[in-house]
Amino acid sequence: MIQLLKVTKTYGQRQAVAGLSLDIGPGEFVVLIGPSGSGKSTTLRLINRLVEFDTGSLRFAGQDIRSFAPEALRRRMGYAIQSVGLFPHWTVEKNIATVPRLLGWPAARTAARVHELLELLQLDPAQFARRYPHELSGGQQQRVGVARALAADPEVLLMDEPFGALDPVTRLALQQELKRIHTLSGKTIVLVTHDIDEALYLGGRIVLFREGRVVQDGSPLALLTRPADGFVSDFLGRSELGLKRLGLGTVADRLRPGEPAGGDPVRSDANLREALSAFFVQGRESLPVVDAQGRPAGALHLVDLLAAHPASPPAAAAGEGA
Ligand code: ADP
Repeated sequence: MIQLLKVTKTYGQRQAVAGLSLDIGPGEFVVLIGPSGSGKSTTLRLINRLVEFDTGSLRFAGQDIRSFAPEALRRRMGYAIQSVGLFPHWTVEKNIATVPRLLGWPAARTAARVHELLELLQLDPAQFARRYPHELSGGQQQRVGVARALAADPEVLLMDEPFGALDPVTRLALQQELKRIHTLSGKTIVLVTHDIDEALYLGGRIVLFREGRVVQDGSPLALLTRPADGFVSDFLGRSELGLKRLGLGTVADRLRPGEPAGGDPVRSDANLREALSAFFVQGRESLPVVDAQGRPAGALHLVDLLAAHPASPPAAAAGEGA
């Protein structure tokens, strides 16, 4: 779907992107992560032609990216950024309708789409459609930013720290929504973050950047269990997925009851730290769980450990600021 081959971008003396190769397939959820200044945002902007690359090759849907008009490209690729960039004097409704209006959609179709998106992002249309951005909480503004990026049903969603600057509870609620949207829509999503826990939670695939290059590209499990070098393990070591925190919970807390799984079982009363080592030892992303009597109880998924669960349940988090 999106292919970068030895792409470079230089600003003055500084190589922001230094021979980057990356192949993103349709429906993938790819998270770009790395230290500040490692070239993540520039890579995202090269993909939608907000920035032009210098050398190498960049293809979208099988064609040279330069064969698309930048406007055409941006319609096919939604773009959501941390600062949100909502138009302050436009209502929520009008903000979300930006691209459909540019595309000349009939008013009724646009209105129906706005309504649908507000519901998808769990903002009650009756309550929010006519509000102005300053009448919303930070989390609600970011939802509107995501809704706007999705409005014309783009094939690709490019997101640059879309949940930055939010409190952890709101952040988790939006991450969960984004996961749900990805599952429902099967869209290709490329998301930039510097938050390792966000990357582990969201990404089916994580691409770790350093100085304009890819250091490692793989599943969360692969990065955690087979880090390419010391830089990768140091970077992942910053995860809040701290052993201390995991030691506090038990397998039963994260169990998916009744679900089958392959591998050597873990006990439901084992703590999550023990479970984590079982994942690594067995090199699996899910494991069967048995109760104290050895009877099958369900499955434990590595992603459920990676999710940084705050103290409050997701249902409460979803009602944030409303
Ligand atoms: P990241 O998203 O990983 O923080 P960026 O892609 O924003 O990194 O930046 C990579 C490098 O390119 C940084 O050194 C940054 O200062 C530089 N850079 C990015 N955009 C510009 C620009 N418009 N002008 C000059 N330098 C830039």
